[in-house]
Amino acid sequence: MSASYDVIVVGAGNAALCAALAAREQGASVLVLERAPHAERGGNSRYTAGAFRLAFDGVDDLLEVMPELTEHELATTDFGSYTADQFFADMARITQYRADPDLVPILIDQSRAVAVWMRTHGVRFSPSYGRQAFRIGDRFRFWGGLAVEVTGGGPGLIEALMQAIEAQGIEIRYECGATDLIEEDGEVRGVVARQNGRREEIRAGAVVLASGGFEANAEWRTRYLGAGWDLAKVRGTRFNTGAGIRMALAVGAMPWGNWSGSHAVAWDRNAPDFGDLRVGDNFQKHSYPFGIMVNANGERFVDEGADFRNYTYAKYGQVVLQQPGQFAWQVFDAKVTHLLRDEYRIREVTKVRADTLEELASKLEDVNGARFLEMVEEYNAAVQDDVPFDPTVKDGRGTNGLAVPKSNWANRLDTPPYEAYEVTCGITFTFGGLRIDRNARVLDTAMQPIPGLYAAGELVGGLFYFNYPGGTGLTSGSVFGRIAGTSAGQGL
Ligand SMILES: Cc1cc2nc3c(=O)[nH]c(=O)nc-3n(C[C@H](O)[C@H](O)[C@H](O)COP(=O)(O)OP(=O)(O)OC[C@H]3O[C@@H](n4cnc5c(N)ncnc54)[C@H](O)[C@@H]3O)c2cc1C
Repeated sequence: MSASYDVIVVGAGNAALCAALAAREQGASVLVLERAPHAERGGNSRYTAGAFRLAFDGVDDLLEVMPELTEHELATTDFGSYTADQFFADMARITQYRADPDLVPILIDQSRAVAVWMRTHGVRFSPSYGRQAFRIGDRFRFWGGLAVEVTGGGPGLIEALMQAIEAQGIEIRYECGATDLIEEDGEVRGVVARQNGRREEIRAGAVVLASGGFEANAEWRTRYLGAGWDLAKVRGTRFNTGAGIRMALAVGAMPWGNWSGSHAVAWDRNAPDFGDLRVGDNFQKHSYPFGIMVNANGERFVDEGADFRNYTYAKYGQVVLQQPGQFAWQVFDAKVTHLLRDEYRIREVTKVRADTLEELASKLEDVNGARFLEMVEEYNAAVQDDVPFDPTVKDGRGTNGLAVPKSNWANRLDTPPYEAYEVTCGITFTFGGLRIDRNARVLDTAMQPIPGLYAAGELVGGLFYFNYPGGTGLTSGSVFGRIAGTSAGQGL
């Protein structure tokens, strides 16, 4: 048995660190437990590019979050707006109207306020020029409502939050994984943790669970997401194995949300089994709306241009996983290669290049080349050439009469050199988890708060079903992390 704290936070990613800072603001003594070693700290949050979805009515709202915007940036950029109503409509549509009606309005209402609060702890934000804007003439135009990212991406976020944690004198223990909750008379009163193989009971007035989903647990993936999910690559940390969810269920928490669903993307076929902090999120390959995706049979299998990438990328990993051999090739011609995101130009990429379609067909490993060539001919003939191509809007330049249509950004594959990139499924995080109320208290199966237990981040269920609007994971972790920390600090 060791010292006692007001609040123990389990995990040290974005949600956990926001919770710890918020609890400290309430005057609480706080201990953060992190299972990873110091070198791998920061959880999935550190692997991100820092995209941060928030509602804004116009540039004045953005200036609250990014007062550093220069006159030049303001004069040359069309940020547009992304209203709370649009954010709400996206969450509803993308989750097929399943997202928790109690939590979604909080997520949206607090999305900008939490960024302003994070600034007070040293986190900085910038316009997401590289990934969410296109240059038209001498102006930048943002698309898809996602205009803001954390300066320095995930590493910048974690660095800033860790400095704030240190400045607040909050203690963090690394390589210290929580294994169980201490429950007394129906109240959570601390955790059992393991460090260097030693078991320790650490007592607290409240516990905030922010230890991620179960994406890094191959057995749970197969059990809950289904057959074949053991074969997915994990995009981020190897430490999110569902421990927080398991601990909470063991004291009666209600399982909630889309337990068979996850966020999963097209990810380099030869990427390592877990994330690599040097490469970060650059194994992803998100420019498929401008090309075609082809499977082992030489067939297209999905509408690459169904919507803006932000609204399809998180569900297309699963579609790739379902293809024979769990892989696909993304194919582009020279008309669009200048539009490919930076992640296509890293050293660790599985890529082929060819001057003719026949040569390309012979280089697409494990693909039926003859059928690929026929398919490209059919596809080229179906492209609606009379509709202008415009990557900044859903341009409606689709295909006619194909069994698998392409709805926007369709171009003939006819201009060499051709490039193709091989991808498989990379899982980001799981959607199922715990049920929380508006104060981020964990609810039991009778819908009553479990005294002393709070949760935030990936392990909260009920927000995302089937799909996910890009940049919402960090926002969710920050919003509910701050609420969980405040509630825990106040002993709500
Ligand atoms: C490659 C990649 C790119 C992404 N890009 C974006 C993006 O640009 N924008 C966006 O919004 N989202 C993005 N996401 C999703 C985003 O990372 C997550 O939604 C969010 O960071 C989750 O935050 P979290 O604090 O809940 O979890 P994490 O940041 O994963 O933190 C959980 C922590 O808990 C620790 N832990 C686990 N078990 C225990 C235990 N038993 N005891 C103690 N500690 C434990 C883990 O080691 C980890 O540090 C991306 C994810 C990945 C993998």
